[in-house]
Amino acid sequence: MLDGKCVFCRIIKGEIPSAKVYEDEKMCVFKDLEPKAKVHLLAVPKTHFKLLSEVGGSEAEILSYMLTKIPQIAADNGCTNGYRLIINQGDDAGQTVFHLHIHILGGEKLSDF
Ligand code: AMP
Ligand code: ZN
Repeated sequence: MLDGKCVFCRIIKGEIPSAKVYEDEKMCVFKDLEPKAKVHLLAVPKTHFKLLSEVGGSEAEILSYMLTKIPQIAADNGCTNGYRLIINQGDDAGQTVFHLHIHILGGEKLSDF
């Protein structure tokens, strides 16, 4: 189920433009508007849920599906020597879009954190 007010749901529906690099029936991957690395993609499930704490069986299935797809998508988009995945959860992590998403960062040597 999508949420009409959510920016990522609106991207999925095509109401807001995005630089999509991959899409299938379960997920969509597009370039982050404000890249924090040479390659910065967002992998977004095509179902609206905010947080890992809301994950039930169907969401867990989508997340695990996404994790199986990400290696190839990352490689196809220039992450040929590794990459970092980040899932921000809530305010302390600086989450700004409350539609769960996986940041894919790479294309260069990333700083330690
Ligand atoms: P987070 O802080 O983990 O919630 O990440 C949200 C990310 O979404 C940020 O890195 C933003 O730059 C990115 N973002 C917000 N709006 C858009 C948009 N319309 N298209 C692409 N990326 C976006
Ligand atoms: Zn959404």
